[in-house]
Amino acid sequence: MIVAVASGKGGTGKTTVTASLAVTWPRPVLAVDLDVEEPNLHLFLRPEITSTESVPLDVPVVDESKCTYCRKCAELCQFKAISVMGRMIMTFPEMCHGCGGCMAICPEGAISVGARELGVMERGLSRGTIPCLTGRLRVGEAMSPPLMRFVRGRMRELAAQTRADVLIDAPPGVSCPAMSAVADADVIVLVTEPTPFGFHDFKLAWEAFSPLGAPMAVVINRAGLGDGRVYEFCAEHKLPILAEIPYRRDIAEHYSKGLILAEMDADLAERFAGMGREARRLGTEVKHA
Ligand code: SF4
Ligand code: SF4
Repeated sequence: MIVAVASGKGGTGKTTVTASLAVTWPRPVLAVDLDVEEPNLHLFLRPEITSTESVPLDVPVVDESKCTYCRKCAELCQFKAISVMGRMIMTFPEMCHGCGGCMAICPEGAISVGARELGVMERGLSRGTIPCLTGRLRVGEAMSPPLMRFVRGRMRELAAQTRADVLIDAPPGVSCPAMSAVADADVIVLVTEPTPFGFHDFKLAWEAFSPLGAPMAVVINRAGLGDGRVYEFCAEHKLPILAEIPYRRDIAEHYSKGLILAEMDADLAERFAGMGREARRLGTEVKHA
């Protein structure tokens, strides 16, 4: 089963929920950080890194001795990553999306495959029992979806080999990377706070993810702040609230030290364990429906 933990905006506590779910989830479980632009699940789970793989994107390399400057590649590329001016051809690897079109269309076979490093994928082990995968986009790199695709591929392989449930820490928001992170999920857990901003972005996330058809459930962080609109919305749309995390100073202090809430006290441990049980029930119900 794949459970994606997502949120309409950053700073709602999505990562701390993912970490707490991971430590209370029955083994085998695999924790995956797909927030590749700003991964921080490792700050909580603190895995021992066992391997790091470089993740490349295929970019064109032109052999000018074969090129006839026909411009077919430049006309095809929608990203202006390859350009022909008279008898000069230039490539701009940073603008290339790695579609391979220019390599396929070149009538002279003048374009071969080069590589631009998108980032890395780290593999590690937390607490001796929780394998972790982290995608980490290179600083200055803008193309997160291909790196996420790579990590998702490794995630599927590892989950199939170990028969593990998967917990994904998705990027915040409803942009392309966020959609891509929840696309495989059997259950989407939306983490929100009951403030006006939180409610606004929570609604956007619910609207964006609804067409995917996966059951959604809600965790309300900093419960006690704001107003009741998120509760009314959940009741109206039959969205189960899996748990509330109270707005308390000791919880905020625990979080700010990079500690895991489920390990703070027995009450929070039970809230997260119950949240996991309910998420598994939702996912199983849909699978058997
Ligand atoms: S398609 Fe091939 S031959 Fe034509 S300009 Fe591009 S690299 Fe040169
Ligand atoms: S691989 Fe695709 S995006 Fe990159 S230069 Fe070629 S046509 Fe453009």
